[in-house]
Amino acid sequence: MADLSTTFVTFPAGGTIGTATVLAVRPLPEGAGAGVVVDTTPFHPLDHSWPDQPGDTGVLLAAGGEHPVTDCVTGGVGPDGEFAIGTDIPVRRGDETWQWLAVHVVPDGAALEPGTRIELRVDEPRRAALSASHTGCHLMALALNEALADRWRKEARTDGLGHPDFDSLAMDTSRIGLDASTDRYRLGKSLRKKGFDPEGLREALPELADKINARLAGWLAQDATVRIDTPGPELTARRQWVCELPEKTVEISCGGTHLHRLGELASLTAELTLSEDGSELVVVTTPKRA
Ligand SMILES: [Zn+2]
Repeated sequence: MADLSTTFVTFPAGGTIGTATVLAVRPLPEGAGAGVVVDTTPFHPLDHSWPDQPGDTGVLLAAGGEHPVTDCVTGGVGPDGEFAIGTDIPVRRGDETWQWLAVHVVPDGAALEPGTRIELRVDEPRRAALSASHTGCHLMALALNEALADRWRKEARTDGLGHPDFDSLAMDTSRIGLDASTDRYRLGKSLRKKGFDPEGLREALPELADKINARLAGWLAQDATVRIDTPGPELTARRQWVCELPEKTVEISCGGTHLHRLGELASLTAELTLSEDGSELVVVTTPKRA
């Protein structure tokens, strides 16, 4: 596998179909079938360092027939030619000594030969649902940062709108689902040391949620455009989510897929819950598509 080069991807611009050449077919562990690697793909693979948005599903079409893609994961080939996928990859996303691959999980993929031309089709309704949740997740982060801004007692790193970036400073995990995104934030000692004051947060939750949801509704009504800026077509290029909000164009680092306009959403609602011991804030953000 040493001669494979980093996969080119078209999903950042919203691509869901494409044609490509099969470069390699690798057996996958635990009877998952074969991992199919191509030169260019519209499929979004789950990131192994920051697994927020799930891999796309869909089909590969070859002369011999249709092959379902049940998942898409990140793979890599190391400097000595070693191949690894997902959490077995021993280095961080984008490590320059590795080649980075979108690995299509295809149960009957062993039938595909390297060199074959194929057509790739992502499950579009599923992708559209994930894109809606992912766009909602980033918007919620901006509204949450704003709603919590007066709880910071020290200068903290700010987001694109100039508010202390609670979302990135407190973030534990972020999961993009088909119906909603779920973000978990740690409110521990280290966040307090950075200057965040959680005093009275539980009592303030309903008011915070109202504030956030009013801001989200306002942004949706403005129908701002959303795009992904990327320095190149490589899977691991450092991409930015860019949203032209009326007050300011904001950017957030992002490897996922998104809507093109906020007007594609009819509503976006965040629900805030604080764990019993107050150490974790969970925000579930649900988009309804227009
Ligand atoms: Zn993102």
